[in-house]
Order: sequence, then C-alpha cells, then structure tokens
Amino acid sequence: MTEGLQKILESLEKPLRFASRTNFQNIHKVKDLDKVVEDMTLRALSLNLTVKEVTTLKSLRQSFGAYNRLRLNGKKKLIIDSLGIITGLKGVEDYPVDENLATRETISPTPDRTDLSQISIQYVKGVGPRIAEVLSRKGIKTVEDALNYFPRTYEDRRNIKRISTLKPNSRQTVMGKIVLSGMVRSRSRGIYQVIVSDGTGTLALSWYQYNPKYLKATYKKGYTVILSGDVTLNRYNNTLQIVHPSPDDVEVFEDIEGIEKDMLNFNRIVPIYPLTEGIKQRRIRKIESIILDTYGKSEFDYVPYEVRKRNHIMGIDEAISRVHFPSNSDDLVDLSDKSSIYNSLPHRTVSFNEFFFLEVGLALKKRDISKMPGISFDPTGELTKKLLLELPFKLTSAQSRVLSEIENDMRADRPMNRLLQGDVGSGKTVVALLSMLKAVESGYQAALMSPTEILAEQHLRSVLKYVDGFGIRAVLLKSGQSRNEKESNYNAINSGDAKIVIGTHALIQGKVEFRDLGLVVIDEQHRFGVIQRALLRSKGKNPDVLVMTATPIPRTLAMTVYGDLDVSVLDEMPPHQRAIETFVFFEEKGARDKAYDLVRKEVIKGRQAYIVYPLIEESESPDHRDLRFATKMFDELRKDVFPEFRLGLLHGRMKTEEKNEVMKKFISRQADILVATTIVEVGVDVPNATVMVVENSERYGLSQLHQLRGRVGRGEHESICILISAAKRSADAHERLSILRDTSDGFKIAEADLMIRGPGEFIGTRQSGLPEFRFANLLRDARILGEARNEAFDIVKKDPTLVNYPRLYRGVLKRWGESLELAGIS
Ligand code: ADP
Ligand code: MG
Repeated sequence: MTEGLQKILESLEKPLRFASRTNFQNIHKVKDLDKVVEDMTLRALSLNLTVKEVTTLKSLRQSFGAYNRLRLNGKKKLIIDSLGIITGLKGVEDYPVDENLATRETISPTPDRTDLSQISIQYVKGVGPRIAEVLSRKGIKTVEDALNYFPRTYEDRRNIKRISTLKPNSRQTVMGKIVLSGMVRSRSRGIYQVIVSDGTGTLALSWYQYNPKYLKATYKKGYTVILSGDVTLNRYNNTLQIVHPSPDDVEVFEDIEGIEKDMLNFNRIVPIYPLTEGIKQRRIRKIESIILDTYGKSEFDYVPYEVRKRNHIMGIDEAISRVHFPSNSDDLVDLSDKSSIYNSLPHRTVSFNEFFFLEVGLALKKRDISKMPGISFDPTGELTKKLLLELPFKLTSAQSRVLSEIENDMRADRPMNRLLQGDVGSGKTVVALLSMLKAVESGYQAALMSPTEILAEQHLRSVLKYVDGFGIRAVLLKSGQSRNEKESNYNAINSGDAKIVIGTHALIQGKVEFRDLGLVVIDEQHRFGVIQRALLRSKGKNPDVLVMTATPIPRTLAMTVYGDLDVSVLDEMPPHQRAIETFVFFEEKGARDKAYDLVRKEVIKGRQAYIVYPLIEESESPDHRDLRFATKMFDELRKDVFPEFRLGLLHGRMKTEEKNEVMKKFISRQADILVATTIVEVGVDVPNATVMVVENSERYGLSQLHQLRGRVGRGEHESICILISAAKRSADAHERLSILRDTSDGFKIAEADLMIRGPGEFIGTRQSGLPEFRFANLLRDARILGEARNEAFDIVKKDPTLVNYPRLYRGVLKRWGESLELAGIS
C-alpha cells in the first residue's frame, strides 16, 4: 500500500475510533462524519490504487452517504464496519502497539492467560447436556475447540433478494412467509411443496423424497423461512422453485418479530457451520458469539508483531472472530473461495498462525540437530572413482549435483540430515551407493536400511556387482538367517570388518553394534517411522543420515513432514528411460481377456510380466468380496489362461527362501509371469519386464500405483501398464485412474493423490507423525505455508534459543515438543 493511502486511512480512522470509544459515548460529539468520510475517500481515490482498494473505498463512501438518516444503532454498526474495512485495507491489526516492545514479546507479570483447552464447552451459557453431547460428537469439547470450529462457508444476508427479482439457475438467498405447506399430487407420485411469499412473488420448495411428518412439523403455514439454494424454473408451470433444499441452508422462524433485530443471523454475512444434525445453525452461531464475547480476547498472539506486519496479517483474536463473523466490508467472494483463502485476511491469518507455530518447531528441531557435533568425512575418492569407471552409464547432471550436496554435508562437522527425493527410476540407488563409498573411503562404516527383504537383497546384489573387486566387505542382515550366519555378521559389523551393511528392520536390533557407523541411508523413508530413523541413528555417534523416498512428496508436505531435513531432488530422469503406456480397463465383458492378450504378446516377444493382486488369499471380509486373490488367481492363470508360460507366485506370507527362489527365477528369466501382491511395489528392478497388470486398481492410492507401474519401463523396451478397475464405470474412479494414464510425472500424481485422499492417508499419518491442522490446509494454503516457514526459520536463525520469545518457545515445546523430539533448553 502507498504511504499516501496509509496516511489518509489513519486520518479517517481517528474520528471513527473516537466516536466508537467507550461504547460510543462520543458519537454525538463527532459532527459531519459523512462529510469527513466523503472528503477522505475522495482524496484517497485520487491516488494510484489497486482495484480492490478502489472498490472498497467506493463502497465505504457510498454507505456513509446515508449516515445522517440512520438511527443510532445503524450509525454504530456502520462505524464498526467501517473500522473493519479500514483495518482490512491496512492489512494489520488496528490497535496501537508500542514499537519499542515490538521486537520482544510483551511479557506481562501475570502468567499465561486462561488455557481455553481446559474450559469445558458445558460451562458456556446456553450449552446444556444435550447440546454438549451433540457438539462433542463433532469434536467440540472445549472452548478452544469451539473457537477453532470454523464455518464451512458464508451466506450473504446483507441484502436479501426480493423473490420477484430472482433469476433461475443461480444460487440465491431469499426470505419469505410460508403461505402453503403440504403434499400435492403430480401424476403418479406425491410431491411435498412449501410455497413461500414475500409480497413481491412466490417461490416453491419441492421435495420428491421426504418424510411428510418432519416437513409438516418444520414448515408450518405462517412461519417465516430464510434459505439459500439453487433456484430453478419449473418447466411445467413456469414457476420458480428450489428442489430439495439442503436442511443446513434453511432456517425457519415462528414469527418475523425479532428477525429484523437479530444482528447475529441477519443483515450481515452469516457463517454456515459444517453441522448436519442435532443442532441448528442459529444455535451454534449464538454459542460461538457468546464464546467470542467471553473468551475471544484470550488467545496469546504467538506471531511476533513485526512478522504480522511484514506479512500483512491481523492479530489472532480479531482474525478468529472475523472468520466466524465477518465484517460487512469483507468480500464474500474471498470469504467463500474454496480453492484459496489467501485473499481473505482473517482466514489467511489463522492459517498463517498454525503453520508458523509448527515451522518454529521444525526450525528448533533442525537447530537441535545442527548443534550436535558430527563427523567430518574426508573422502579420498579412491573407491568412488573406481565405481564411476565401472558404471555402464554416465551420471545425470541431477545425480552429480545431488552427490555434491551430499559430499558438502559429509565434509561439514555437523551431522547431515538430508532427504533425497526422486521419482521412480530417477536413479537414487547409485547415489546411495556412491555416498556409502564416500563414507567407507573416509574410514567409516555405512548402513542401508530397506523396507523389504526383496529390496535389501537387490541392493546387496547391486553393491556386490559393482564393488566386488574393491576389496570391501558388504553384509546383509535380515530376519530368518541362521544363527551362525547372524553371529558372523554381527561380528563383522562389530569389528568394523563389514564396511557396508544392508538390511531390513533387522538392522536396528539391539545386538547389532557398529564399530564406526558414519553414514546411514534409509530407503523408502515413508515406510519407516520417526522412531526407526532415530534408532538407526543411535547406532553411531551422530552419523550422517540420508533418507530417500521414491514417493515424490509434494513440496508443501515435505516442508511439514520432513521440515527438519534438507532436501535434494533428482529432477532429471536418466536417458533411455522408456515411456510406459498406461491403459485403464473397467471390469466388464472381455476387458480381462484384452489385458491377457497384451500380456501374451509381450511374453511371446521374450519379455516378462507382472500381474498384481491386492490380497493373498480369499477373505471372509465383506469388504473384500470382490477382490481377486493372488493364490487363487495364480492357479487359475497357470491352468486356464497361460498354460504355455512359466508362472511364479510371490507374496508376503511366503518364507524368505521361497521368495528369494521365485525372485531369482524371475530375474534369470526362468519365469515369464510373476503373479504377486504389492510386495513388488518398491524398488524391484527387472529391466526385461515390460508389462504390468494391476487388478482392483481402484483400491490403491495414485502414488502407490505409480510406484507399481515403475517396475516396468526400466529397460530398453517400450512398456505397458494395464489398470483394471472393479468399480463400475464411475466417473470418480475413471477420473482418478485417468490421471495415471495421462501423466508419468510422479510429483503431479502425488499432488493429485494428496488432493484426493488428504495428507493423513497419503503419507500414513500414524507412522509419519504428520501434523494435524485445525484449519490450515497444506494444498490450499501452500503459499501461506511458505511465508510462515520463512519467518519461523528466520526467527530461530537470529535467536536460536528464542530468548526474546519465551512464550512462543514454551508454546511450541508444549505443542510439538514430543512429536518432534525437541531437545528443549532449560
Ligand atoms: P530409483 O530412483 O527408482 O531407485 P534406480 O536407482 O533403481 O531408480 O535406477 C533405475 C534404473 O536406471 C536402474 O536400472 C539404474 O541402473 C539406471 N540408472 C541410474 N542412473 C542412471 C544414469 N545416470 N544413466 C542411465 N541409467 C541409469
Ligand atoms: Mg530405488
């Protein structure tokens, strides 16, 4: 905003604030308020303004045109609203703040204010046991919960449309008296109709399916209704109607008395809460308004003043209050925009607050780790150079870049804590191997933890393949090894003889003791919890940690889940990666045969195939009734469909030895088709496999399907992936799966997946410790998250122990200390 506008707004604000002070005591002393506003807004309008500023100022000026004709209450309301408008324009909170205190938290002698999470909702006026019960079903148990129970949308009741001015095919809000209510016969079936009139015209509410008792009791003749809905034209009698109005969007009043005076439900932008049953919108509005009046000023504002100012956000109290009850100057379009809340100042503020709090926690976490002393590796290059010579390919520039990022971290005397993200097939394995060799040539041991044995075995094979002649020992740790085998491995690890240790969870067993563990690589990190990460880390003295994920995590999510990690991205695919053509087949006559034909064609050409099923054996669960089963289908395929080919079966309940046997056969081309569960999802690398069929593909997340699909297209041949969906040709399933058909970009797919399933399911909240937000939304609010993150990291960088922000520090420790394993300082 220009300085000129700022000045004008300030001089405009003064008389308004004066008038409003101490319950409008001075309102009569302020003369010619309309002229003042007229004058100031005109001056402001001559400046160089944004479109939004212009429209806001114009409407401010316009509403003051009628100031002198208003009654006292109207005047008060206009003044309050105008102050809101001005605050909105200025973008920061409107109370004076002592600039000297601004850089420090204002520390009052009283301890932290009332903890609203300790006040039961029952103690709020108007909340009896029944309402408390209803609210608690919505997760509202305390005053804090209620303050954070936000409207899902808003309804504009500033000026309700006259029925005569309604236009069909748009969503509108109307009010009127019920003049008729009852069943009407139309040909064969009965329709329930309520006719509403406001003196200018009539509107019909129609139900085709209904509970007559309920409708009769609710919509009584003489009652007044106010409702929003999609107004359409009834083609038979040419009248306007709303069909099946949503109960959430209708309110019925016994008498009109009081409606005009009701400042909570009328003459304003009204919040619509996401309630559905057991409580009326009016009731929750009342409760929220009481809570805001009583406790609305109790939140401690953790976001420092200068941060608020820089990011043009409000104080949290006012923001929360205005998310519930917007000021009449707020823009309804901005308020109800589902795809972005950025333009709604109160919403943006609430979201910023939540993100800021978490990001401060993550910044502290990162500080904790970077405070620890780490190993300064000094790679000689002896082994890595040899490996680079042996590789049958040149590193992509992304791989080289990432490797130098890793090397910088390794050389530094702080522990590396880095996330390597790269789409399926982007070549993470060789990056991991080179990093491990850097550790080894610096005189340390390196460990690689994989989520499955198959993958661990495969990693061992590629390590051995390349470093066989290097004279370093690599061992594999997994469950199911003989006692002797285990003992000798443990000894090799303990003595430091084993330089490279690869394994599954077996790596974090108590018996495994390293002599000098310098580098830990964790593959497919999203399958391991924070605790496992920490356990492996504890096997060394602050070893460097590299976590790799092939589930490309959208940036916003990475910032929260892995916010304490530095991130490297392999954003370039190795050359000669083959495109995979993806088909979506719906389970209908002939579809499966078509899929089998495609498989047959490939196998005849000498290629191999995967056929993937969601379950191992037949299950009793009704939920699984339609699923196809790996074991059963294995028999069927072998006998009836592909008798001419060699089939293998692979699933998680097989013994390790059996699994290895099957994998070996498939790798050495002694099996043509591998019938498997999703056990093949991660990492399996068989370049000759060129076709994959996924049954019941509707059951999987998109990212998981993308992973699965990544098992083909790894060699020199064109590949195909066939997704068979048991779901009826539902638009939903179709749309989801067609995303996979249309793009091979793992990040785009992950974004879509995240959008569809929500962050919790996407990443598996349980194990990832993904934060739950009350209001903020990772996707919708990505931009706000970025802003909050910058500020949070900045503060922790300048003031690593937050001495200037003691409350913020305590608040963050309390909220995030445990889940982020923050060290804390005393
Ligand atoms: P992912 O990132 O999915 O773990 P991999 O590391 O398994 O990918 O690599 C996929 C395939 O690409 C492997 O067969 C690997 O040998 C090959 N590869 C890796 N880097 C390159 C490169 N720079 N040029 C060519 N092929 C490469
Ligand atoms: Mg891999």
